[in-house]
Amino acid sequence: MKRQRAVVIGASLAGLVSARVLRHFFAEVVVLERDHMPGGPDPRSGVPQARHIHVLLVRGAQILEQLFPGFRDELIAGGAPTVDWPSELLWLAPSGWVQRTGASYELISASRDVLDWTVRKRVLDDVRVRLVDGTDVTGLLTAGHSAHVTGVSTRSRADRTSTDLEADLVVDASGRNSHAPAWLTSMGYPQVRETVVNAFLGYSSRVYEPPPGFAADWKAIALTSRPPEAKRAGVLFPLDGGRWHVTLVGTGHDYPPTDEDGFIEFARTLRSPVLHDAIVGAMPLTAISGYRRTENQLRHFDRMTSFPDGLVVLGDAASAFNPVYGQGMSVAGLSGLVLQGWLKSAGTSATFQKRLAHAVSTPWLLATSEDFRFPTTEGGRPGIGMKLMHRYIDRVIAVATVDDVVLDTFIGVVHLVQPPSALFRPPILARVLRGPRRQPLAAPPPAPAGAIAD
Ligand SMILES: Cc1cc2nc3c(=O)[nH]c(=O)nc-3n(C[C@H](O)[C@H](O)[C@H](O)COP(=O)(O)OP(=O)(O)OC[C@H]3O[C@@H](n4cnc5c(N)ncnc54)[C@H](O)[C@@H]3O)c2cc1C
Repeated sequence: MKRQRAVVIGASLAGLVSARVLRHFFAEVVVLERDHMPGGPDPRSGVPQARHIHVLLVRGAQILEQLFPGFRDELIAGGAPTVDWPSELLWLAPSGWVQRTGASYELISASRDVLDWTVRKRVLDDVRVRLVDGTDVTGLLTAGHSAHVTGVSTRSRADRTSTDLEADLVVDASGRNSHAPAWLTSMGYPQVRETVVNAFLGYSSRVYEPPPGFAADWKAIALTSRPPEAKRAGVLFPLDGGRWHVTLVGTGHDYPPTDEDGFIEFARTLRSPVLHDAIVGAMPLTAISGYRRTENQLRHFDRMTSFPDGLVVLGDAASAFNPVYGQGMSVAGLSGLVLQGWLKSAGTSATFQKRLAHAVSTPWLLATSEDFRFPTTEGGRPGIGMKLMHRYIDRVIAVATVDDVVLDTFIGVVHLVQPPSALFRPPILARVLRGPRRQPLAAPPPAPAGAIAD
């Protein structure tokens, strides 16, 4: 029998994906969002990170396609460009330029506002799902000496009225600043423990119109940092309407500036001039936005000695990542799949948190182990195992820049479609231990014949 009502806190990606899943298990799904939601692909204050490049990894795109069939085609029909990784990408890895053949992973290069709007429309098309915006969730309702969450208290931003809303399940998808830890302690539960790994990384981003008549044999650029000495990175991805989205990144407190001259000067100091040379004659279409709240943050709800039923916490509210690895939206999708599996099996909320912790352990490992390459990263120090791992991955990347097979597996791991263990399978291990069979590419490689179709 269907349960009556589920409530979701937050209408960003984790909340929307959750609502999509919940509609099959509850007669009614109510999504509560503090922002007044725009009626189109427009910015809003609750998702300030939308001003920065949001790469949807292949795994995330697969999950969204599974939950919203036709999602990819809808984005492309709306003007979102695709980028074939690596043939259409100029990619300067720590060990040098990456060849542009040997793999093919399609990226849909949409702005975050367009992605959210596309998902939101599909979620709200269903009569079982209702969005109540302009509404803050201010607390949890409980029963049975707080052993069970039975709903939420809300306050309207329009008239400040407070209302209680009962629910069989409350899904907290309210992001990094979730109140769940405080709500739980006020209910008598122990303080949830957190692991924080902070690389002190900052973003500055801007949208441009390319210079008139600009022609290139690439669609996107990714110039990575090279820890520990080269702390700066820069990325350019295409947007609908032929625009470019540019994000500059600095690690270890080397934050990219948000003023006109500083932004261009920072771009000039990247490991290759190619991005700087592209934007220097381009027309800025937006102001420059900065962002510094980028630490990896894992809340260990799964390790609490007791956890109330009727509540689950997911998305950034449970695990948030250094965004430079592009994992957050894919983890929101993964959280939705974990929720789906858990609802089918009807376990306790504590079981859900354990399953979620397992699902996010790979993205967590990938992000934090890379951050530990910088000596300025805080939150524990890598042991000898991590140092050996870094040396092996350095070699993987050096080989991947010139080896089709290793490149394909490496991109698969980065995009969460292959497990990290794939890099240790015998055929890959053998190629990696043998080392690169060609010299690294000294200059940006040209596109393979016929690669750039539009
Ligand atoms: C600078 C930056 C760049 C990023 N780049 C990428 C990228 O390239 N690729 C990628 O996959 N991910 C990226 N991410 C991560 C991605 O933005 C998040 O992982 C993603 O938005 C999913 O988060 P969420 O839905 O859990 O929470 P959020 O997006 O933070 O949304 C939380 C929602 O809850 C609402 N809310 C909060 N409190 C309340 C309350 N009390 N009552 C009602 N509503 C409430 C908020 O208004 C908001 O709508 C980036 C993040 C940052 C910061």
